[in-house]
Amino acid sequence: MPPSPSIPSPQPYDVVVVGAGAAGLSAAVLLGRSKRRILVLSLPTRRNSPAEAVRNVPFAHGMPPAEVYAKMEADAASYGVRFLWDEAVSARFSDDDEYVVVETGASGPVTARRLLLAAGTVNELPPWLPDGVWGKTVFDCPYCHTYEHSGKHFVSLGAGEEALKHSLLCRPYAKGLTTLVRDPAAAESGLADRLREHGCEVLVDTVGKAERLPSGELALTTEAGRTITTGVVVLDFVIRPNQRLPRSLGLELNAHGYPRATLFGQTSHRLVYSAGNAPGSPYFMWTGAACSGINAARKISEDMALE
Ligand SMILES: Cc1cc2nc3c(=O)[nH]c(=O)nc-3n(C[C@H](O)[C@H](O)[C@H](O)COP(=O)(O)OP(=O)(O)OC[C@H]3O[C@@H](n4cnc5c(N)ncnc54)[C@H](O)[C@@H]3O)c2cc1C
Repeated sequence: MPPSPSIPSPQPYDVVVVGAGAAGLSAAVLLGRSKRRILVLSLPTRRNSPAEAVRNVPFAHGMPPAEVYAKMEADAASYGVRFLWDEAVSARFSDDDEYVVVETGASGPVTARRLLLAAGTVNELPPWLPDGVWGKTVFDCPYCHTYEHSGKHFVSLGAGEEALKHSLLCRPYAKGLTTLVRDPAAAESGLADRLREHGCEVLVDTVGKAERLPSGELALTTEAGRTITTGVVVLDFVIRPNQRLPRSLGLELNAHGYPRATLFGQTSHRLVYSAGNAPGSPYFMWTGAACSGINAARKISEDMALE
């Protein structure tokens, strides 16, 4: 991790990037190479930090997340990007509406001509999840880590249709597959019938508690009192938008609660950009977040160059 500057610069930065994940670091490299004064302000934990490897990411496939981020941070630092490892608590516009001031948890305010919001999403994990299983044997995505668990029993869990789709996607890897849905209508749907045709269980039930077994498997106890021993659990919809800064800036939000933004990250305020995964946008998974960061950085760069 590059060191934090000891005191935030009294001179405004060109851009403060909040979030040193796929989106923020990708943007920081491009912005640093544009010879701008850039500060990345971030907490150190990224969404995929608990996973043992990054998958489906070109050139980084199979690498530990920490190694990928260290390389991206070093790349950004080599172009003069500074890092402040602290929390962005709130943000406001200067009185003349020409600057954005971000309040940090412990380092005082930082000021910039543009702000890129790349703080990712907030996880809302179920209370029954034992420590140490999230990102190891429990996921919310059927693409990134399921192949590595081929031959195990899978449980897909959720409200309805999404959990059934996850099950159909996981079927090639699973030795056995149980889908637990809360919506009784989903259990009678065509997707459920297709799973049953393949010998997979679909039940109207949900998990009440879970225990991590010495084998690494999970023993799930359902609300109906059933015990299921499984190697993998796939959850649906565990994310919610990180709204702290967008709300403090009064940005317009879309129907999913994320800042309303163009494909180039332009929000409802001309000084603020947004990047990262967001439902309703085409920026899926790690590479999508990185791509949105690059697109936003290009637009910021252009915006400042044409000013
Ligand atoms: C367990 C798991 C494994 C995954 N594995 C893969 C994979 O193998 N391949 C793949 O394509 N996708 C994977 N994903 C999805 C991938 O992690 C995300 O698509 C990607 O991390 C999104 O990038 P981001 O930059 O938007 O957010 P993040 O990577 O989450 O980065 C956001 C950054 O902002 C920081 N932050 C948040 N709030 C604040 C604040 N208030 N102040 C300062 N900093 C803040 C965070 O600490 C973090 O450093 C996985 C997801 C999970 C949950």
